[in-house]
Amino acid sequence: MDNKLQKRPRLRQERKNFIVEQNIDAIQWPPECAVCGGRAEVTDSLKLEATFKNLGKIRIEVPGIPYCQGCFSKIRRGKLLDRVRYIVALVLGIPIGLLFVWMATKQPGATFVWCGLLLAMGLLIGYGLAWLIVKFPVKMLFRRYFVEPVDAWLVGTSVVISIPNRGYAAKFAQLNMV
Ligand SMILES: [Zn+2]
Repeated sequence: MDNKLQKRPRLRQERKNFIVEQNIDAIQWPPECAVCGGRAEVTDSLKLEATFKNLGKIRIEVPGIPYCQGCFSKIRRGKLLDRVRYIVALVLGIPIGLLFVWMATKQPGATFVWCGLLLAMGLLIGYGLAWLIVKFPVKMLFRRYFVEPVDAWLVGTSVVISIPNRGYAAKFAQLNMV
């Protein structure tokens, strides 16, 4: 007997996303590229991590997402771009945060400065700037070199899965939500 037939994932669809509450490892992927519907040649997995007050750190893996070779290279390129954006965000954000801290200490009557908060604000601005000067222009100029992959993130202990390709999402629903 196939184990997957006995252990079914529990999931529901909410607008464009799927929310998996149980048995994420029993999720089945239609055997074709999740981006273009071409031949499935490689599988990718998404590693999710979150820290909870009561449960501590939990790690969940979403395995077996099929892609064709072409789309997979584009996805890897996208991840590389995200890493560049992250570095640019730090390079810009940390000095901005420090500048905020410095400005706050210069305020007359400043006895207590929220360093952490100001640094976090700086990083947030850096992250936005990095999107503006790195991610947005590169994606606009080289649109056909990138694709939107399947993505997943945690909300509480449930896994939210986003499948940008609607046709694939419909097949995914058919396969898993019977
Ligand atoms: Zn493809």
